[in-house]
Amino acid sequence: MRPCKRGDSPKPQGFTHYRDAFDHLLNAIGKGYSQGKPIAQYCSYCERVIVTNLAVEHLQPKDGPDGRPDLKNEWANFLLACVNCNSSKGNKAVNFNELFLPDRDNTFLAFDYDTNGVVAPAAGLTDEQKSLAQRTIDLVGLNAGIVNNGTVVSKDRRNQRINAYLSAIDSLEDFKSDPNNEALKRATVKSMVTSGYFSIWMKVFNDYPEMKSNFINAHNGTRESGCFDGLADAISPHPNTDNLDCGGKI
Ligand SMILES: [Zn+2]
Repeated sequence: MRPCKRGDSPKPQGFTHYRDAFDHLLNAIGKGYSQGKPIAQYCSYCERVIVTNLAVEHLQPKDGPDGRPDLKNEWANFLLACVNCNSSKGNKAVNFNELFLPDRDNTFLAFDYDTNGVVAPAAGLTDEQKSLAQRTIDLVGLNAGIVNNGTVVSKDRRNQRINAYLSAIDSLEDFKSDPNNEALKRATVKSMVTSGYFSIWMKVFNDYPEMKSNFINAHNGTRESGCFDGLADAISPHPNTDNLDCGGKI
């Protein structure tokens, strides 16, 4: 899960309606770039490319018994989410102490993405950290299909992760065949941005810090998160420069 820094609210006086924050969120944390041009936009949780139906996501639900209507139009309560992650999360209670979240934790270190498209708590975590990671996976249903009237109607996130893995491995082979070719490096970044699934590409290119650094720089809000050093190694804990509640748990 790509860590991000949302930064200060672009409307310090507050938003009249949360949907008005959408473009600001895209500019702060949502877009991927190739050679300076925005190419794609992503769900903050599952990292997939969402062309339409990306929505302002309320970290603390705005409705329901655990809802926080007082945070409904609050910048610090927003991420971007796809329909699948959004509907899985629903109005469930969100306790920041029990989850890893991309605006306040170094979520890049929290999860492992295997070649079968499954997301799991990262191997190096403590048992307590693993339980936080698993709770996050379950909250947004990263390994689930969408269930409609008892039938699983969509498994697309998992299948898309498998495809992203295969694309990244193909690109890695091309890159290794001519690793000093600047045009090929740019094409690789474009493939990554177009594919989505930042964390999978980071894993596949793990031995190539320059390319990982290029991937980090290609997504807005990611370098700004302070979660990576100049060699693209992850820094833990998240420095939480936005001073969010319960930040820096990993
Ligand atoms: Zn999603």
